[in-house]
Amino acid sequence: IDMDAIKFKELAEEVIDFLRKEAEYRSISITMDIPENLPEFISDRGKLQQIFLNLVNNAFQAMNDGGNLAISATPSDKDSLVFTVRDDGCGIPAEDKKRIFDPFFSTKKRTGGTGLGLSITYGLVQELGGSMSVESEVGVGTEFIITMPLKAPEKA
Ligand code: ADP
Ligand code: MG
Repeated sequence: IDMDAIKFKELAEEVIDFLRKEAEYRSISITMDIPENLPEFISDRGKLQQIFLNLVNNAFQAMNDGGNLAISATPSDKDSLVFTVRDDGCGIPAEDKKRIFDPFFSTKKRTGGTGLGLSITYGLVQELGGSMSVESEVGVGTEFIITMPLKAPEKA
């Protein structure tokens, strides 16, 4: 594993910058609630980026024009951070919720969804020693909650 010192706020801003144009075009507002003095991750930058990008991409795909995306991060018990990615998009029906982390499960087959994003994301979160959960309500929106140790396991 490639260990880097990573400021989550910088990582989030870099990833969001990729989607700035689309957000503007679709009138999607992006709120980031990330304190300046958050402790740094000692972790794998590429994997953390991939995790965050997958979640934000899904959020963009779930929202209509004019939607709201909210990112937050906060220190969690002793040695970890919790970060969240919340959208006010279509939401996930209860019967799909059990399957969204399965490889190839996608409700976007018609628009080219592979159904691999969340299964890869889930695997990467585990590699880095974290855990993730989801809260969602159809027609209201979805929030992914990731708890991640500041220091990734040596053998990830
Ligand atoms: P894909 O995006 O290629 O369909 P993913 O593994 O990224 O595959 O996601 C699997 C499924 O989970 C999606 O097809 C969608 O039904 C659901 N999903 C994931 N994120 C969201 C979200 N933010 N809002 C609504 N549904 C979501
Ligand atoms: Mg996806």
